[in-house]
Amino acid sequence: SAKDSGRNCYQIYTCAMGVQVEEQAELINALHQAIVQHELELYYQPKVDLGSGRVSGLEALLRWRRPGIGLIPPDSFIPLAEETGLIIPIGEWVLRTACAQAKAWHDAGHPDLIMAVNVSARQFRQQNVPQLVLSALAESGLAARYLELELTESVLMRDRETAVKALRQLKEIGVVLALDDFGTGYSSLSYLKEFSFDVVKIDRSFICDVTTDDGASLARSIIAMAESLHMTTVAEGVETEGQLNFLNTNRCDTMQGYYFSRPLPANEMSALLGAGTRLPADSCRRAPMRH
Ligand code: C2E
Ligand code: MG
Ligand code: MG
Ligand code: MG
Repeated sequence: SAKDSGRNCYQIYTCAMGVQVEEQAELINALHQAIVQHELELYYQPKVDLGSGRVSGLEALLRWRRPGIGLIPPDSFIPLAEETGLIIPIGEWVLRTACAQAKAWHDAGHPDLIMAVNVSARQFRQQNVPQLVLSALAESGLAARYLELELTESVLMRDRETAVKALRQLKEIGVVLALDDFGTGYSSLSYLKEFSFDVVKIDRSFICDVTTDDGASLARSIIAMAESLHMTTVAEGVETEGQLNFLNTNRCDTMQGYYFSRPLPANEMSALLGAGTRLPADSCRRAPMRH
């Protein structure tokens, strides 16, 4: 009968929930261990200046090397870290590690590299980010202008006053502020102006469309808007030569994406930097100087 099947459904549902709760608890426990057991790693993806073709900065991207399972991407554990508060020790580890690595690369002969670190909106609310930044800079000896924080528009959605205060503090400290995934949120132009972001990262969804007419005009208008607000532009998720040509023609400042390099572990990034890997002269706007 309908009643029986209804009860069956209910039983299946609670059973599935039980499994979920159990799995969740196990995952939380494992994530807790991950911090203690040093299972977290940073990968680094280059950002390339389209004027010179050279690597101008790196974005630190978190990975969890889970024993017996493999490399876990951030989207599958950061939400849980935020729900449980584990984002606080994780975020602290990320920032300290990225600053120390940036300083090591500066000392190894790449003194202009800017290191970008992601801070999610929920993390931004939970953590005293300006205080943590000051501490990580002092500890590593990295100058503030070589640290970039990538934030999304959603940092401004809740508790706007606290967010504005923290952004002002970060400005005063002298770090670079970038608006990540631009175009996917709700920001108005006045927002962008008021919060004085230095960099706009154009979301990958716009970049993958630039070879269509609508996609091209959208991307062009974002670049023009950023230019008029004196912000520099980074194109995310650049995978093809066609996209790169579009960015050069339309004077986007910086590119990032698989076309140049995937995110790499620190040792492979050291090799890429040491080899002076760059875009070929005909893929950027200024040919490299010859001696
Ligand atoms: P995001 O900050 O927008 O980072 C860009 C994402 O796009 C990265 O994914 C990167 O690997 C990927 N990507 C780069 N180039 C290409 C490309 O050419 N094609 C495609 N299809 N993808 C590309 P990832 O590493 O999985 O990170 C996902 C998100 O997780 C990040 O998005 C960021 O929001 C978050 N995240 C990463 N690391 C951290 C961290 O340390 N802390 C916090 N709070 N969030 C982080
Ligand atoms: Mg980012
Ligand atoms: Mg992004
Ligand atoms: Mg993203």
